[in-house]
Amino acid sequence: MGRVLIIGAGGVGTVVAHKVAQNAEIFTDIMIASRTKSKCDAIVKAIGNPNIKTAQVDADNVDELVALFNDFKPEMVINVALPYQDLTIMEACLQAGVNYLDTANYEPKDVAHFEYSWQWAYKKRFEDAGLTAILGCGFDPGVSGIFTAYAAKHYFDEMEYLDIVDCNAGDHHKAFATNFNPEINIREITQNGRYFENGEWVTTAPLSIHQDITYPNIGPRDSYLLYHEELESLVKNFPTIKRARFWMTFGQEYLTHLRVIQNIGMASIEPINYNGMEIVPLQFLKAVLPNPQDLGENYEGETSIGCRIRGLKDGKERTYYIYNNCSHRAAYEETGMQGVSYTTGVPAMIGAMMFFKGEWKRPGVWNVEEFNPDPFMEQLNKQGLPWHEEFDKNLEV
Ligand code: NDP
Repeated sequence: MGRVLIIGAGGVGTVVAHKVAQNAEIFTDIMIASRTKSKCDAIVKAIGNPNIKTAQVDADNVDELVALFNDFKPEMVINVALPYQDLTIMEACLQAGVNYLDTANYEPKDVAHFEYSWQWAYKKRFEDAGLTAILGCGFDPGVSGIFTAYAAKHYFDEMEYLDIVDCNAGDHHKAFATNFNPEINIREITQNGRYFENGEWVTTAPLSIHQDITYPNIGPRDSYLLYHEELESLVKNFPTIKRARFWMTFGQEYLTHLRVIQNIGMASIEPINYNGMEIVPLQFLKAVLPNPQDLGENYEGETSIGCRIRGLKDGKERTYYIYNNCSHRAAYEETGMQGVSYTTGVPAMIGAMMFFKGEWKRPGVWNVEEFNPDPFMEQLNKQGLPWHEEFDKNLEV
């Protein structure tokens, strides 16, 4: 039924490949392409399906991408390389007539700044070409938006307050490591915080606002207000929202390491000259930190990510909390990767499945909350990320 090309062979790409291979009735022809072909071959070996093809590609190079697309002729590309490659891959999709899905919005390499405008600018071109582009289809962004759309569709007349709460209560037994690409992760966390209130964006100093939030099966954890990209599309697509915020848990040990890394200049993305060679400190740091793909083996504990929403139904105030908890160990046993890669890769596969089933096939460039959430929610329960709901309880936030 569907030819799919996965670009990126990191932690998330590995999970996407496993899940795509598990759903062979939808994904009939599969290729994994990345900068380092040996990583794609290793994934195919781990899956044990020699029919999956692999290729080397530099996803910064539109011509190389177009040549690969014309050769393999995928119907859809699942982009799980880095956010820097979003625009080149979208451009190549337009040139070769391929549909597109990603899990993180575009970021320029030289400025740690992310917003949807660069990708939304492609809307008309995708529409005219009759191609679908699905943006931000991981967990957050991704399931966070689908949970919100599900709440709006079934439980609220007006959603007023939205808090996305993201807890990783796992322990990988390393002094310091990031759960996905360290460069992207540290750029995200060290930025100013930002949230939406009464029609305006409020900027806060990095990690300056925090409070305890209680997570199911985990307990209270110190949670920090961050800016996260899905806030931008959610307040646009659900205009009744008066306030939207994003919270993520961090342990003291993690924050201490992060502070030192910043204080000594290792989080900088300004190139410096070292022994006649130009290096970017944050990229060098990535090279010495543990590889997120290797964290899975001894990872204990679980993640818990959800949406806490307050609003009106039939004139009465109501609260709603919807979440998924994911065990790092179970994720590792199934795919060889830890829970953060798993919670990102599974939704990316489901988004592609929605496209191939015709549920989410609509020319243009869309954020996930603009599609019907119901068939996606049904698949979350079947594909390893079951969700739970609580009504009219204290949301804490
Ligand atoms: P990794 O760093 O583990 O993997 C990235 C992969 O992309 C690597 O295989 C890398 O190749 C490849 N790559 C990088 N640059 C290029 C290029 N120019 N051409 C071809 N391939 C390239 O990252 P993760 O797997 O942890 O994350 C993947 C994506 O998922 C990121 O965009 C991240 O932001 C996103 N994400 C989204 C989340 C969500 O919930 N929405 C949560 C977590 C991550 P090589 O192996 O050679 O370096």
